[in-house]
Order: sequence, then structure tokens, then C-alpha cells
Amino acid sequence: MEIHRAGKRPTKQAPAENFTGVVLQDPVVVGKSPSRMRATNVHFTPGARTAWHSHPVGQVLYAVSGVGRVQLEGEPVQILHPGDTALIPPNTRHWHGAAPDMLFTHLAMSEINDKGEGTAWFEHVSDADYGKKPAPVA
Ligand code: MN
Repeated sequence: MEIHRAGKRPTKQAPAENFTGVVLQDPVVVGKSPSRMRATNVHFTPGARTAWHSHPVGQVLYAVSGVGRVQLEGEPVQILHPGDTALIPPNTRHWHGAAPDMLFTHLAMSEINDKGEGTAWFEHVSDADYGKKPAPVA
């Protein structure tokens, strides 16, 4: 059995090419074939977020701490609180990140497709799109 011990894999800063603001990533797993699993614990500073992107077989976001935001293109911005799980459908443009005034950490889980393809990245999320009033929490 492999155990990746805490503290043995350095935290990485997410690339400015695909993120706005300071975003820190702790790797959880990059599965070895036949596994297609990918999981990362992602820490967003206030106002930080991903660029618009999509995942070939979707993504699951599990909110760990703080207050977050997530939006599927064409739908309202949604608030995420610790314990919430957001299901991102396959090949659907979306973004996720922190609230404007709060840290946010989520566990991001996805799988590559049968061609080995992962995340497709698009343009950054504008301040205007990021700042839209989120939907009330049901
Ligand atoms: Mn995503």
C-alpha cells in the first residue's frame, strides 16, 4: 500500500493562466490506470476563482471550509458552505472560487475520459460576472 504522508508533497500555487487571485492546491491523488480519479484540495483566498473551464466527465466539489461560489454558465451564481456538494455536469462551462470576503477550501474530484483528457480551460471570469448577486441558499 502507498501512503502519501501529510507534508511530504508541497502545496502549489495555481497558475495565473487559469486562475484569478491567489489559489493554493494540495494534491490528494492522481490515480494510476485503470483509475481515472483526480482529487485536489483547493484553497481560494477571498475573491480568488478559477477561469471558465469544463471537465469531460464532470466534477464533484465538496466544500470543506469557508464560503464559496460556483456558477454554471447561464445559471445564477450559487453559494457553497462547508458540507455542501456541487455536481458539475460533463462538458459544461463553469467556474468556482471563494466569496469576495472569505477564504474557501473545497475538495475537487473528477475523472479523465477514455482518451485521457482532463480539464479544458477558457477565459478568466470577469469581475462583473464574479460580482453578480448569488442566488439565495435554499
Ligand atoms: Mn471545475
